Amino acid sequence: MESPLFDIKLNNLTKKFDSFTAVNNINFTIPKSSVTVLLGPSGCGKTTLMRMIAGLEKPTSGSIFFEEHEVTRVSTRRRNLGMVFQYPVIYRGTSVKRNLELPLLSEGLEKQVINDRVHKVAELLGISDSLNKLVEELDNGTRQKIAVGRAIAREPNIILFDEPITNIDINSKLELKRSLKELFGRLSQTIVYVTHDQTEAMTLADQIALMQDGVITQCAPPSEIYSKPGNQFAGWFLGNPGMNFIDKKHLTKTDSTVGAPTLFSQTLRVGARARDVAVLGIRAESVSVSTKEVSGAKPARVLRKSLGIGGQYLLDLDYAGLVIKVRVSHAMGREVSDKVWTTVDSDNISLFDENGVVV
Ligand code: ATP
Repeated sequence: MESPLFDIKLNNLTKKFDSFTAVNNINFTIPKSSVTVLLGPSGCGKTTLMRMIAGLEKPTSGSIFFEEHEVTRVSTRRRNLGMVFQYPVIYRGTSVKRNLELPLLSEGLEKQVINDRVHKVAELLGISDSLNKLVEELDNGTRQKIAVGRAIAREPNIILFDEPITNIDINSKLELKRSLKELFGRLSQTIVYVTHDQTEAMTLADQIALMQDGVITQCAPPSEIYSKPGNQFAGWFLGNPGMNFIDKKHLTKTDSTVGAPTLFSQTLRVGARARDVAVLGIRAESVSVSTKEVSGAKPARVLRKSLGIGGQYLLDLDYAGLVIKVRVSHAMGREVSDKVWTTVDSDNISLFDENGVVV
């Protein structure tokens, strides 16, 4: 769909509710024509940030620009946005087609233009066969698609999504996520998408802006934020399970009967950076596991074995009191009994300082 494309620029943006700071001095640019997912736990300020972009919430201080135009005090209506919320905003008792037409009729567009747009949007969302159905006949995932259609039919410059999948029933969730992914690939508008669900963010985002306590702590494409978390919070919040963290105290312990201290000590010898390291981070799939003794590999006891997502196994490995979670393939997992030998490639270890920031 053709629309002018906008960067969204946030300058020193702050929102306070009485003495509570929900959004704390954010300086950030949301690049035009990309899908930026605001991800974070409940209460971190992502909805408040989105509502300020929408003009539904007034910043306490700071400014918002759409390209070079300041919109901080411009009304929602004049910001030319499409919005999709947690619950589908649709008219009951009317057809899908009518639902898609209504926002266009209020724009005063010609009949033929409206008809073309409705069919284009229905095609984009894969609901062309349902145009004449009443919305009551559809599951709530499809109703949410109609709400999305209503938001994009006007061809706004920016489209905002606030947890659109969260309240959709489990059977429709996957299909809705798949359709949104496809839709985002075909739209050229700037898209901002709020969710607390890291899997959803990993699937849909061009870039994930991770939020904690009212600030954006890291912004990067999904694969980068996953493999190179900028802080421990990112390592913990992304991934299922989150990253393993190993405190420095485990690294200096000199217990020759166990693997843990020496398993990772090699990493700490890598360069001067080691001086600042307080914690090591290791992803569950970064540990290589063997069921047979391998020279140089460290032994661990298998505390627990469970079938994880994608048919892989998750193991809880015990290195004399230090427990880390490890992911292995289905075939390997089936062979695992109570003892394994492990190695970690030092390239796959994140190093954090005492403030949890990557070094
Ligand atoms: P959630 O997914 O739970 O909504 P969120 O990251 O979107 O989380 P916000 O809704 O932006 O978080 O809320 C951030 C903080 O600001 C929360 O502690 C919330 O209680 C507070 N807050 C939000 N709106 C208001 C309001 N109108 N009045 C007072 N406090 C508010």
